[in-house]
Amino acid sequence: MQSPSHESRPDANRSMEKSAYWFADGNVILQAGDRGFRIHTSLLSRHSVFFRELFELPQTSPEMIDGCVVVQVHDPPGDIEILLSALYDGCTFNVGAKNRLPFSTVACLIRLGHKYQMESILTGAISRLKTCFPALYADACMLRNRRSSYMSFKDEDAVAVVNLARLTQTGIVLPGALFVCALLPNELLLHGVPRGDGTMERLAPEDIVRCLNGRECLVRAARTRFEWLLLEDMYTSDDCSQEEECQPAMERMAKDIARQGLLSNIDFLNVMLAGQHETNNMCVSCRQMLDDDDNNVCVYIWSNLPEYMGVPVKDWGKPDAQDVPIES
Ligand SMILES: [Zn+2]
Repeated sequence: MQSPSHESRPDANRSMEKSAYWFADGNVILQAGDRGFRIHTSLLSRHSVFFRELFELPQTSPEMIDGCVVVQVHDPPGDIEILLSALYDGCTFNVGAKNRLPFSTVACLIRLGHKYQMESILTGAISRLKTCFPALYADACMLRNRRSSYMSFKDEDAVAVVNLARLTQTGIVLPGALFVCALLPNELLLHGVPRGDGTMERLAPEDIVRCLNGRECLVRAARTRFEWLLLEDMYTSDDCSQEEECQPAMERMAKDIARQGLLSNIDFLNVMLAGQHETNNMCVSCRQMLDDDDNNVCVYIWSNLPEYMGVPVKDWGKPDAQDVPIES
């Protein structure tokens, strides 16, 4: 990690663009690229162990602007702006405020919160991340929809989620994040996803192997989920009121499911049985039976997700699921 420095930059004053965070009573200037942030050491010190220790050192910068020491930071200016927005306008970043942030903002807060040892920023952002990568099946709709009340993300963001989880020892999000990575096209899985700065966000080779192994497990799980479709005689509900109609309806549904390739679809959270039987004329009891059976299988697949993706999580699927130390 590159540390902030007091490098001498004689032309800094002339080339520095004042950011939205330029307070007349600020007493230190952070410079990121060509953007300056005139802020308060007391606020930074309150939230950041890193800056608290830095400001306790004698400030001997040769470079002063308006009586303020200039501290160079090696982060994109936009990232520093997000961090300062969380510090100065924190109410809008509060998890309890229920405003949904894009993953890129949450990722920035996790990265800088970790780098500058800002406990409250880091834990707040990780809490937000966890809402989209839950351990409980009851919350799996957040992962399925790629959004919760607190965060939204795209499939390709899952690569960065895995890397941030490893950086911050947040193992509980790994089964869900690696699962979404396993859904990515091979090119993205192997070569990575472009970041905003043009570099690539890549999975470690061990995690790529986990995704490939996970895919195989998920294909087997999908086949098991629908193996009843291959039965010679479709069974109807014990309470079926119209067996002569429900049985052929189930056979039609089986053909539909096979035709749509759902037997090998590994995105099990997005394969809905309800959409299949709604189009067929089936009695309420039979629909309920199919839904209950299918839900039980999905709960079973979910319960095995850490094993499929090669990342154990203590008490996965239970309310008190915990992070476990990450090996690599
Ligand atoms: Zn029926």
